[in-house]
Amino acid sequence: MNERPRITIIGAGLAGTLLATLLAQRGWKVEVFERRGDPRVFGYAGGRSINLALTERGLHALRQADADLGVMRQAVMMRGRMVHPLDGEPELQRYGRDDSEVIWSINRGELNIVLIEAAEAAGAALHFDRRLESVDFDAGTFLVKGEGHEESRRFDTLVGADGAGSTLRAQMMRRLDLGERTEWLDHGYKELEIPPGPGGSFRIEPNALHIWPRGHYMCIALPNDERTFTVTLFMPHEGPHPSFATVADGETALALFREQFADAVPLIPLLEEDYERNPVGTLGTLYLDRWHIGDRAVLLGDAAHAMVPFHGQGMNCAFEDCVALADRLEAEDGLEAAFAAFEAERMPNAAAIQHMALENYIEMRDRVDDGDYRLQRVLELL
Ligand code: FAD
Repeated sequence: MNERPRITIIGAGLAGTLLATLLAQRGWKVEVFERRGDPRVFGYAGGRSINLALTERGLHALRQADADLGVMRQAVMMRGRMVHPLDGEPELQRYGRDDSEVIWSINRGELNIVLIEAAEAAGAALHFDRRLESVDFDAGTFLVKGEGHEESRRFDTLVGADGAGSTLRAQMMRRLDLGERTEWLDHGYKELEIPPGPGGSFRIEPNALHIWPRGHYMCIALPNDERTFTVTLFMPHEGPHPSFATVADGETALALFREQFADAVPLIPLLEEDYERNPVGTLGTLYLDRWHIGDRAVLLGDAAHAMVPFHGQGMNCAFEDCVALADRLEAEDGLEAAFAAFEAERMPNAAAIQHMALENYIEMRDRVDDGDYRLQRVLELL
């Protein structure tokens, strides 16, 4: 019997580590290369949203890898959305009839560490501080660089789990036109923090996703298990309404919050400093016509289908990709058939979720003259 090919995964983020776990558990030889340092040693150096909404889709995938219990120990239940109107008291709208229908807030760094440990425990070899630079598909080699380190390595097949700005995707594009196009949103986002209250308690209701919907812009806040909340302000990059161009510094941001998010102001003591220090993130939708090149390379997660976050489903969708690819690698005869079947199964699903997230955003943006409608749309999203 021929030996199974070795699977080389680029990126030990959320999808890369879950896929490594699933494949190693099924007896595949798996190696993973991650450009960042090991977060267990250096702390988590993520530049992207600090906590994420985990839904049943993602949880189902984590169960397949027996990683759900470790993850859920860190999760905070969100049983509904707590809507903060401009005037009046916040109101909780439950997601379901009872606590069997809830979503979970999970810290990205903690989740990543649980999955890194799961991948190693399953037998995958993880290499940190190893950034993919280039791929020579003819020679079957790839170049990685790290601090004072440069190395060319051989591969059998490559999996791109290296996120929205995927280097592997760029290298594949040099070989074959994948039909790549990205639609950028005119909204961006900035993160702020609600620290723990006196005595280390949560300052507002912990078991809810808090929303301050304000039409053109909004804030949301998700709880963290260390009793903080990550606040995300979504706002247009440009324009006369409050935008990141007009709200350019901490002082103007504080004035906006005092006017529009008054109940949040006492909760965010470092609002001005955080606003000036934290970058404005960009949001976009990535479309590809092809996710793989024969049996040589395949993309998944954000590297294949980054999406806007208005459904909170990017990670959940990436986790579903991992299960689908692992299943196809078991079921199909050879890598190329497995990659093709994976692409055929997942591309329409990812496109549907991308579309729903974007459609809701566009409706929210364009129906700007109808306050009730806008509010309603935002509430349906999260
Ligand atoms: P990533 O998490 O980006 O991981 C990629 C990994 O590859 C990283 O570790 C990176 O360091 C590494 N890497 C990159 N380049 C290289 C290289 N050249 N060589 C080696 N390694 C490399 N999704 C949800 O499901 N729920 C939410 O609530 C949610 N909220 C969001 C809020 C915001 C503001 C944003 C922007 C996104 C949100 N998402 C959410 C989407 C979610 O963050 C992504 O879908 C998810 O992180 C995708 O996982 P991934 O593993 O594909 O990519």
